[in-house]
Amino acid sequence: MSGEGAVGILGGTFDPIHVGHLDLARAALTHLDLPRVVLIPSHVPPHRPIQPIVSPYHRFAMTVLAAAQDERLVASDMELRAPGPSYTIETLDRFLRQGYGAQEIFFITGADAFAEIATWKDYPALLGLSHFVVVSRPEHPVAQLPDALSSLSDRMRFVATPPRGTSAASRVREMRDGPTAIFLVDVATTNVSSTEVRARLATLRPIGGLVPPAVEQHIRKYHLYSPAPRAA
Ligand code: ATP
Ligand code: MG
Repeated sequence: MSGEGAVGILGGTFDPIHVGHLDLARAALTHLDLPRVVLIPSHVPPHRPIQPIVSPYHRFAMTVLAAAQDERLVASDMELRAPGPSYTIETLDRFLRQGYGAQEIFFITGADAFAEIATWKDYPALLGLSHFVVVSRPEHPVAQLPDALSSLSDRMRFVATPPRGTSAASRVREMRDGPTAIFLVDVATTNVSSTEVRARLATLRPIGGLVPPAVEQHIRKYHLYSPAPRAA
């Protein structure tokens, strides 16, 4: 039984979106029994060493194509429409202003991203504005987080298996109805990064299986991340 009010949020630069992002979204959907996840492409932080070579329009288009595969996934342009850098606190505020309760919002990250949480704007206050769902990424198991972020360890809850059957609904409700928590999900996601996909395209190597087929078609059609052929 999925709580209709609950929503998962997965932000990223999605430059481009890849199957690891979709594995991450699905891990949160199944382990927290969420009805949907909103994929939110962000502005690229100015301090990022490698600036994107494709426009936010293309990053959003690829996110829409990836979301089209699964009815539980939707893309949102809310961060791209806002001026300036994207801060998680502002995105959470937007959902709260839309009427969601903090316990209905599940902010999803990979373990590598969550390990940097202390550097995020309005930390630690933002931890009270939603639940967090943190999923292992290859080389970054969530099991390291209670030690790495020891001041947060008492808020962390391992979610070992997707809830099933009649006791599942009560377990999910129990997980949701307490104070906002940090749920740790240790599942294997595909070992891929956007950096790797860009590097492969720049050197004309294949990317089959690393991005959804519709995203690969889009990348090829618009010659993203690789030198454009000359007009004949
Ligand atoms: P880049 O290489 O450009 O940094 P990325 O692949 O890390 O790209 P991001 O857009 O930076 O993708 O990440 C968005 C979110 O997705 C982050 O929370 C990150 O931890 C998570 N994520 C990305 N790839 C994976 C993966 N393979 N498994 C689990 N989580 C992932
Ligand atoms: Mg990254």
